Amino acid sequence: MSLKIDEQGFYGEFGGAYIPEMLYPNVEELKESYLKIIHSDEFQKEFQALLKDYVGRPTPLYLAERLSEHYSAEIWLKREDLCHTGAHKVNNTIGQILLAERLGKKRIIAETGAGQHGVATATACALKGLECIVYMGEKDIARQAPNVSRMRMLGAEVRPAMSGSRTLKDATNEAIRDWINNPTDTHYIIGSVVGPHPYPDLVARLQAVISEEIKAQLDGNPTHIMACVGGGSNAIGAFYHFLDDEDVELIGLEAAGHGINTDKSAATMALGTPGVLHASMTLVMQTLDGQVTEPHSVSAGLDYPGVGPWHAHLHKEGRVRYESVTDQEALDAVLLLSRKEGIIPALETAHAFAHLEKMDLKPTDRIVINLSGRGDKDLSTYIEFLDV
Ligand SMILES: *Cc1c(COP(=O)(O)O)cnc(C)c1O
Repeated sequence: MSLKIDEQGFYGEFGGAYIPEMLYPNVEELKESYLKIIHSDEFQKEFQALLKDYVGRPTPLYLAERLSEHYSAEIWLKREDLCHTGAHKVNNTIGQILLAERLGKKRIIAETGAGQHGVATATACALKGLECIVYMGEKDIARQAPNVSRMRMLGAEVRPAMSGSRTLKDATNEAIRDWINNPTDTHYIIGSVVGPHPYPDLVARLQAVISEEIKAQLDGNPTHIMACVGGGSNAIGAFYHFLDDEDVELIGLEAAGHGINTDKSAATMALGTPGVLHASMTLVMQTLDGQVTEPHSVSAGLDYPGVGPWHAHLHKEGRVRYESVTDQEALDAVLLLSRKEGIIPALETAHAFAHLEKMDLKPTDRIVINLSGRGDKDLSTYIEFLDV
């Protein structure tokens, strides 16, 4: 079975576009035009220029000497934390804003949980002078006050989702409702490799710059590439150009929360079953009668009950190995990286580093870890849980 997407937007049994009829014209327009636009010379010229001078790419591939010595293996860090706004998410929002412009859209909507995707979207909208509306659960607005202020500073309107649990899934429902009501002038920027086809493919192609750079920066292939997986966009970005290189072991790290044997977890690969979430067939954490279960992770960016459909397929085909890391293991890894390398990582990112503890490493191993984001946004969690 092919590892890649097929003509219908499926990755094996996963993917597709399970959308309400009223959304069909919007998704169809995107599906018909995205490849032609993003592969045009004109798009690529502006995208590459912004990635270089605005985002700060290429991000360094840094040989972490003290961490390498600690684990007796060669460890390289792909520094997405040095991107403008502090994480990889901006690669996608810049790409999608350029796509929206070329589709003649004047209004951008997005949904956000912790606020990181909202900030990256508001940033891209400010750059292009486009109207920006970010839907966010009322509960998340209260929990993530600094990011709400950032979005407002950038000129975005943050609209509270008041229904249900007043969190990410409710914000997603509001964004979809908005898109149905504004089909002609609005583009919906999804923040990870999730949602209906063509979003998983679009976002993967925009994030693929990460592995393209790793290939150019490293002399020969690494033995392993590791990345944390929420929806899976930074991980796909880091794996993309290595999927056909069978000598490279690819490992995705998801959030086990309190542990996969507890009811407080977000480890979809370990606990999920096939189902439709956010208009895509994928693995979902759900009850036997199909109700989505509330996930838990100390890290807001990994606190998601599904996973991108491509990852579900790569898991099933065995090309990528998915392991899980608990809240505590991730927090321990935050301190280790901070003190060994002078880099305070995002809590999401720390899940990838925590897995080093469980690997049987050899001095000949050459590991690339995708350092998806910096930890400034997590400082209040670090103050609460770490003795700092
Ligand atoms: C949002 C976020 C993630 C999780 O999203 P993916 O789509 O799985 O990459 C990981 N790391 C950081 C720093 C994030 O902000």
